Amino acid sequence: MLRNGYRLPFRLAGIPLYLDVSFLLILPLMVWLTARNLAVLVHQPQFGLDIDAAVFQGLMPLALGLFSVIGLFVSIVLHELGHSLTAQRFGVKVRRITLWFLGGVAEFEEMPRQRGAEAIVGIAGPIVSFVLAGIFWSLTAVVPRSAPSVWIVVWYLGMVNLMLGLFNLLPALPLDGGRILRSLLALRMPHARATVIAGNIAKVIAVGLGIYGLFANLWLVVLAFFIFNAVKSETRQSVVTDLLHGIGVGELMNRDVGAVPANVPAISYRASAFDAFRLMAGNNVGRLIVVDDYGRMAGIITQADLMRALQVRTAGFQVTGGQQAAPSSYAQRPAGDFTPCPSPGTFGYTPVDVARDPQRYARPF
Ligand SMILES: [Zn+2]
Repeated sequence: MLRNGYRLPFRLAGIPLYLDVSFLLILPLMVWLTARNLAVLVHQPQFGLDIDAAVFQGLMPLALGLFSVIGLFVSIVLHELGHSLTAQRFGVKVRRITLWFLGGVAEFEEMPRQRGAEAIVGIAGPIVSFVLAGIFWSLTAVVPRSAPSVWIVVWYLGMVNLMLGLFNLLPALPLDGGRILRSLLALRMPHARATVIAGNIAKVIAVGLGIYGLFANLWLVVLAFFIFNAVKSETRQSVVTDLLHGIGVGELMNRDVGAVPANVPAISYRASAFDAFRLMAGNNVGRLIVVDDYGRMAGIITQADLMRALQVRTAGFQVTGGQQAAPSSYAQRPAGDFTPCPSPGTFGYTPVDVARDPQRYARPF
């Protein structure tokens, strides 16, 4: 879904900005719903707005709805920029920021490797949202109530930014709160185990949110559904990444090869096993040609090779926490005992990973 987007003709801090098709489709509905909300809000007696009924008629509510929705999505971009700029400080390259119908996504080349860094990157977005809420609510003191249309839009943007920050702090992967929780858990345990625990917590929260949403707001049911599905792909990808961490293609490849089809994708013997995993999944192939520094064929690597490495690492991880003695070199190195996670990652105010790149990451062997 997020592969098909319209790229805006500018960059923010060097990061390209995309509008997903789903965002463009949901936009008119959001403007209409927001206009309806504002029309109700503006008459709330606690605001003390001196509103002339004639002002809030015709196209006026729709115009205010449009301004509000634009303000909302600018706020979401700033939220994602908060994650992105923080990640850049940890040396992570940010591929793009995309707006889609459930919010925003910042897509990284990899998660920051430093201990606790994911928590810092995770909290940066909600902090931006809370600061924006403060700014908008400060503005309500400046904007005269004799301009009720402007006042209500400013107040509304303060409100949605507060909600944005709070909702994202739900400790449910892949929301920011879930990432913060996993990062903090990983300070005390292997990263793979922290992912599994955070994933289970996320599923419980998603079910609770879904049941609550049935009685309160059907939009929450949609969100719960996405959290539940996204967390499955998130944990699967993260665990595979952890287990393959530190293993090179050169360690797993078969050198004794006869003939191979000419159209099979190639990978360098210096690449990581996880790169091979991604390349196979992305191209829907079961084997890759391994090439040396001069582009000559050095061997092949297959899904079975990767599966074997995963099994050995899994056994070591479960039985001894990674400190097992096994004949091959990669098995002797600890898997899951490291905190940093080199997996590609996203930060979004809503569940995103399942939609981000399902062809590439969500497919098991
Ligand atoms: Zn966020």
